[in-house]
Parts: sequence; C-alpha cells; structure tokens
Amino acid sequence: MISARTIQEINDVTRIEEVIGDFVSLKKRGKSYLGLCPFHNERTPSFNVTPSKNLFKCFGCGKAGDSITFLREHENFNYVEALRWLAHRYNIKIEETEENAEERERKQTEEGLYVITGFAQQYYSKQLFDTDEGKSIGLQYFHERGYRDNLIEKFQLGFAQDRADDFFNEAKVNGYNEDLLREVGLIKDQRGKTVDFFRGRVIFTIHNLSGKVVAFAGRYLKKQEGAPKYINSPQTTIYDKSRTLYGLFQARNAIRNHDECFLVEGYTDVISMHQAGIENVVASSGTSLTQEQARLMKRFTPNITILYDGDFAGVKAALRGMNILLDEDLNVRLVLLPEGEDPDSYV
Ligand SMILES: [Zn+2]
Repeated sequence: MISARTIQEINDVTRIEEVIGDFVSLKKRGKSYLGLCPFHNERTPSFNVTPSKNLFKCFGCGKAGDSITFLREHENFNYVEALRWLAHRYNIKIEETEENAEERERKQTEEGLYVITGFAQQYYSKQLFDTDEGKSIGLQYFHERGYRDNLIEKFQLGFAQDRADDFFNEAKVNGYNEDLLREVGLIKDQRGKTVDFFRGRVIFTIHNLSGKVVAFAGRYLKKQEGAPKYINSPQTTIYDKSRTLYGLFQARNAIRNHDECFLVEGYTDVISMHQAGIENVVASSGTSLTQEQARLMKRFTPNITILYDGDFAGVKAALRGMNILLDEDLNVRLVLLPEGEDPDSYV
C-alpha cells in the first residue's frame, strides 16, 4: 500500500495542467487552459483546466474532476495506478506500507530491465566516442550525415563493435543478471554460445515518454549478405513497439508548442529534421504505423503532417498511415518527397 505521506507528497506537487497536458493539447486562456475534450467528440474546445482549483471541467459533456479522476477516466487506471503514474511523473519515491509479493517481483523485474537498458546505452555511447572502431566507423557515419555531437548525445546514439561477446562480458563483469540481459534482447544464443545481439552496427536508442531507455535499433553500415539493414530489440514488459514513437520524448514540447507533429519514416529522418532545426517530429519504430501510435500523437496535437519518400513503398506506407490517422479523427497533411530526397533536404 502507498503510504499517506507519499499520497500527500503527490498531491502537493501535482499540477493538473501538466498532467492533462500530457494527454490533451492545451492552450492558455487567461487563468485557465482550454483544449478539445478527450471524452467526447468536438471540434470547438470546451474542455477547461483550472490550475488554481486543480480541477478540469468539460462544458460539453460535463465530465469534471481532479488529476486522479482524469487519469482514471482517460487511462482506465484504478486509484493506485493513477497514484503510481503521478509519482513516476514527478519523480516521487513511493513509500510502501506493505505490498504483495507478486507486485514486488514484477516491479523489481521492470526496474532491473531499466537498469540494464541504461547500462547498455552508456556502453554503446562509450563505444562510439572512445574506441577506434567506433570513431572511424560509427562516428564518421553520423558526421557524414551532418549530425553534430550535441545531437548525437541528445539522441544517445551509439555503436556496437563487430565482436562476438564484448558487451556480454562487460555486463557480466558489472554484475548484470544473464536472464534479464537475455529477456531484454541484448544477448542471444547462437550455436551453443551466448553472444551479443547488436554487433557491427550503429545504435539508435529508443526512449519511453519519460525518457527512460526501453529498446535499441541497430543499423549495419557494411551491407551483409542476408542480414537485415535494421535489427530491433524484442517486445518486453518495458517495450511495446506498437505503442512507442521514436523521438517523441525529444519532441513532446515542440509538438505542443507548434500544435503540429511531423511523421517521418525512419530514425535517421527524425534526427535529420532536428539537425535542420525542426524538433516536432516522430517516427514509428520498427513497425508500420499503428492505431495506438496515432492515439499517442493525438495526446499532443490533432495536426499531423506525413513526410514520406515519394517512391512506391513510401507512397503505399503513407496512404496506409493516413487512413489510420484519419480513423482517429486527426487532421492529416501528406507531403511526398521527390525520389532520392531525404526530409532534411526538403526542409
Ligand atoms: Zn467533454
């Protein structure tokens, strides 16, 4: 159970406009905020959030309440789940008076996975900046694309050297649990041996909405016979690829400020756009666009611009994506790029 002291702490720091702002695009109107109600369909905003009272109210459908009510209604959380979400949102350490074993175990596993993905991210960054192979191959690749080092750090790009089990050994030396390393997909079994999953690839780090590392994608630089251009971390308890948008953590404020989101095809397109000064941009990662991803974008803005390649595959994917976005009542613009041009050459 969550202690009374923790609940008090959560109530003290929670700001309703921030909590609702994570899901609904809000505009300041005097002392309150106004947005499109997420509980009923409307085109003219009648959903009000009043920070001084810590309350929201929709003058269209009548729904009203505080942050907890909002999370329970909007996210289908129960009371405890809503409290946990808020504690996490505001970095409040939850003091438990008592909890059941199953819940404790689940949380420990999840925390363990985050610790490992965080460790791996630091490892891949170090490989990129501090090893000869990382500098001459990985860093050069990023620099050739025009990425500045601050952007490489912002997106936590990395490099995995072409070695069998360097990462695995380093993880073992640091005391990381082999089962968890396998569960999160950083090692795999191959011909009776345990080897690194990412080898000889540049690494793109995938974050969740609060900026924690949940997964990785690795791109090969030398064409390898039969090897896919990109490989991705598997689905885990901390990573659901159909509910994750690459770059959203870095883009969320810009999307809200511009009230628009660019949807591009790949990891490199997202970073190229940032390089060109456009930060309200995301990509669906390791999958074609899903309904859940469309809903995720809708939490931040109803206005989406699809920016895809004008080649056959790009047009096909763009039309498919457009239908999904339209089904979620989003306003969609479609920009197809001339063949051979990247989004950054367009912007
Ligand atoms: Zn409403």
